Amino acid sequence: MNLDFSPDELRFQQEVRQFLADSLPPHIVAATANNGSVFVEKDIALEWQAILAEKGWAVPQWPQEYGGTGWTPAQKYIFSKECYHAGAPMLIPLGLLMLAPVIMAFGSEQQKAEYLPKILSGEHYWCQGYSEPGAGSDLASLKLRAQRDGDHYIVNGSKIWTTHAHLADHIFCLVRTNVGSKPQEGISFLLIDMASPGVHVEPIITMAGDHEVNQVFFTDVRARGQPHRRGGQGLELRQVPAGI
Ligand SMILES: Cc1cc2nc3c(=O)[nH]c(=O)nc-3n(C[C@H](O)[C@H](O)[C@H](O)COP(=O)(O)OP(=O)(O)OC[C@H]3O[C@@H](n4cnc5c(N)ncnc54)[C@H](O)[C@@H]3O)c2cc1C
Repeated sequence: MNLDFSPDELRFQQEVRQFLADSLPPHIVAATANNGSVFVEKDIALEWQAILAEKGWAVPQWPQEYGGTGWTPAQKYIFSKECYHAGAPMLIPLGLLMLAPVIMAFGSEQQKAEYLPKILSGEHYWCQGYSEPGAGSDLASLKLRAQRDGDHYIVNGSKIWTTHAHLADHIFCLVRTNVGSKPQEGISFLLIDMASPGVHVEPIITMAGDHEVNQVFFTDVRARGQPHRRGGQGLELRQVPAGI
């Protein structure tokens, strides 16, 4: 098997190297090198994301119709490797790589048009609300309750270990919309504006003194949405424009 890069791939590698030499600011490289946490500082990540987005290279993993690059696996590999060697930070994956693919697969056209550009531009900064005090590895034990009330859900309970909840403006959550069925059922996916009344973030300071993770409390938080079920996917998705 020949694992050498083709002439086109070698040209692409040079193009990436030149772009990084021209466009990756030294203060971003320094901040990345000094970072002791899982993610670099929000401002640093978003600054680099904006530079990549302007070039059209922020989300090689996305389909081209939403802003992806259309690169081959070899090009993606070359790009990642060159970014790493140049000292570029990893973009924060919470919105870009955790939420966006779910919206692409299960969201309505309206949700795709609303959320994907804002995730790509960094206008929306998301955190991930899956883990709970009694539901970590066993996620099916989650209890954060979302009860239907007309065209809203009323959300009560808490999420824990929520990375960057104190910096995020939105949270994507797994919530329990149906009790009484087996634990793996009756779980829905809600998008909630962190500015909604009733959302409260408590910091969790790690032994290293970092503030990266949090506990997020929801008290009668109202999130607007319509029930929406996808057949055959084993996933019940609720359409919820963030906020109220
Ligand atoms: C730095 C950091 C950031 C995080 N950020 C987020 C975030 O943004 N959003 C979010 O939702 N979560 C986040 N988490 C939580 C994380 O993704 C896991 O869900 C969580 O750490 C696991 O739950 P737990 O801590 O309750 O551990 P537990 O689930 O209690 O597991 C404890 C130990 O028991 C083992 N164990 C559990 N069940 C079994 C079993 N049945 N058989 C054998 N062994 C078992 C596990 O492997 C583990 O070693 C973060 C965690 C860390 C460390």
